[in-house]
Amino acid sequence: MPDLDKLPVTVTVMGLGAMGGVLARTLLQAGCQLTVWNRNPDRAAALVADGAQLAGDVRTALLASDLTIICMIDKTASREVLHGLGPEIDLGGRTLVNMSTGTVDDVRRLDRWAREHNAQYLDAGIMCYPKDIGAAHTAILYSGAPEAWQAHEQTLKMLAGSPRYLGADPLSCTPTYLALYAFYFGAFAAWMEGAVLAATAGVSVQAFQALSPIMTDMLVDGINTAARRIASQQLGGEQASVDVHVSGQEVVLDALKNAQVPYATTQAFLSYCHMAQAAGMGDKDIASLYHALQP
Ligand code: NDP
Repeated sequence: MPDLDKLPVTVTVMGLGAMGGVLARTLLQAGCQLTVWNRNPDRAAALVADGAQLAGDVRTALLASDLTIICMIDKTASREVLHGLGPEIDLGGRTLVNMSTGTVDDVRRLDRWAREHNAQYLDAGIMCYPKDIGAAHTAILYSGAPEAWQAHEQTLKMLAGSPRYLGADPLSCTPTYLALYAFYFGAFAAWMEGAVLAATAGVSVQAFQALSPIMTDMLVDGINTAARRIASQQLGGEQASVDVHVSGQEVVLDALKNAQVPYATTQAFLSYCHMAQAAGMGDKDIASLYHALQP
């Protein structure tokens, strides 16, 4: 549990949707003096009833606390809200942490806005659903102003007990965050494809879920092995070549098509294998896809 004596007394949360509302609630329950702002102020009612201060406007919200956490639908919305303040506001060295999803260009502009208004900017990416906010295992990625990270790390650990600070460059966080979600949802889509195929053979979703750790364990090992092989340039196909993967996955693709269920993720994997084959890597390990897929 973080030492409350060392924490900033005050935190503002702007954006009280499904995620921002839970961030705010978690900080309030941890004993922070909380100020909240939401475009539709009705969303703040329950938090205010439990002791949070409702800021009447964005300027008041930002000046109320040393640390402001923004969690709006996207970073474009948060940029518009901040730019709406006009040029004269001075944030006196306060910290802005933006946990909204957005583009690298948004981050560049938000960081510039923060510097122009005497604020420190931390970019952030939340790696969980609201139900896991506050848990020791939960990760949020951060990058940006090192002094701000050092000053607020303990407070931010109230929201996610296993944060990853990726360094001083504010532009590091967002591409890493987007890449991790590309991985997660690609794998999730593949699981759905498999579950639907299994269902056509009478396998219940519960039975498929019970068998799934066979493959999630194999996936963890496969990722570790691939990363090691790529780093050490050991791409020999002695375990299973790209060509072998193609012949196996063509059978899977046929099964999906014959069962008339969606097959986009299997087809994507096969197309990546075909790129490796076209690049002359058919006899190499599946880790060679990393090279075949480079832009
Ligand atoms: P919600 O749709 O539940 O809430 C959206 C929030 O953004 C509301 O507070 C809404 O205000 C506000 N908002 C929308 N447009 C504007 C605008 N133009 N100006 C000011 N405020 C605006 O989304 P979530 O809370 O689920 O998500 C928030 C962020 O967190 C997103 O970027 C999302 O990608 C990210 N995230 C969410 C996760 C999740 O599991 N929910 C997981 C990881 C990241 P109002 O109430 O007035 O409409």
